[in-house]
Amino acid sequence: MLDFSRFGETQVVDCHVHPWPPWKADGKLDETALKAKSAELLETITYGRLSQMNVYGNPDHSALYLKAVNPGLFYAGGYAPWSFEAKSWKETDWPRYIESLVALGYDGIGEMGAKPVTRDKHTLLDSTAYEGFWSACEDAGLPVVCHVGDPEEFWSEEQTPPWAKARGWGYYRGDYPALEELYGEVEHLLSRHPRVKVVFPHFLFLSPHLERLDDFFTRHPNANVDLTPGIELVYSISRRREDWRCLFTRRADRILLGTDIGMSKTVKEHLARIWILCMFLETSEEFYTPDSADELLTRYDEPFIGLDLSKETLEKICTGNFHRLWGSKPRIVDVKAAEAAAERQGHIGVAKALKNLK
Ligand SMILES: [Zn+2]
Repeated sequence: MLDFSRFGETQVVDCHVHPWPPWKADGKLDETALKAKSAELLETITYGRLSQMNVYGNPDHSALYLKAVNPGLFYAGGYAPWSFEAKSWKETDWPRYIESLVALGYDGIGEMGAKPVTRDKHTLLDSTAYEGFWSACEDAGLPVVCHVGDPEEFWSEEQTPPWAKARGWGYYRGDYPALEELYGEVEHLLSRHPRVKVVFPHFLFLSPHLERLDDFFTRHPNANVDLTPGIELVYSISRRREDWRCLFTRRADRILLGTDIGMSKTVKEHLARIWILCMFLETSEEFYTPDSADELLTRYDEPFIGLDLSKETLEKICTGNFHRLWGSKPRIVDVKAAEAAAERQGHIGVAKALKNLK
């Protein structure tokens, strides 16, 4: 078992957790499965010494179950379309939809965004299809977690790691938008919606480009990033450790901690993700991907190097920024309304489990 007792007393909120695979509402989820997931995440929170988690909701409202049975521990992001499915959301009355998510007890939106798909499937994040969505989130002051892009290596056949190829995450075949085109969409939507509170996961894949990320922060005061692996970000930051250490300190208000638990499948694997991030932020040591980690966490020959951040910087990255954007307490779930919503949309297992909570 990895040792967590060595880490300091800083509270840690994980802003990036997938209880169930993203994009899919699993019609088979029932009370037994929901209870098991709740127990798995609680065990992770306890051993990994987390204080809270932000879990990403699927259309079945299963995330609201986690919130309702564990008051105060879980925040949940309401569902919004990824770029490949936005076409079928064209008729959405966005202000009403966003309002309904808040009324059910969701705390923010996401994860949504643009994981690269071929051009024919991709709806631009700055197109009219998303315009009402961004306006509604901006007006409601609701934080959005918006994934844009992927590691730049994934656009090169030689550089894409085997585990990514196995998942179809290589954008060198077929007609995928270039990473720069996706960044163009982000620039445009932020210039139109400067007040929208948004977190771009995985450092917006800019970890090879420190100066560019710094400039991005300057130009967009309400944009934030999370440092969820993409283990390549821990690796590339370690290669320019001193410069990045200054940036983490100077931009401490704009960086959040996330793990992508759910890409990992077992408590042991979840804990390996948390451990890597604690080693990275809190110590000055050299370390490697632990054996217990999932295969998405590439095993590099060169070590990662901890940033040894100050207590004040750690507090912001691990908790303060999340609480500033999401509030210090999760919203209360309207269990009855959540049950009705799940039932109306045909997610009978989730609806029954919520019903049994009353
Ligand atoms: Zn994610």
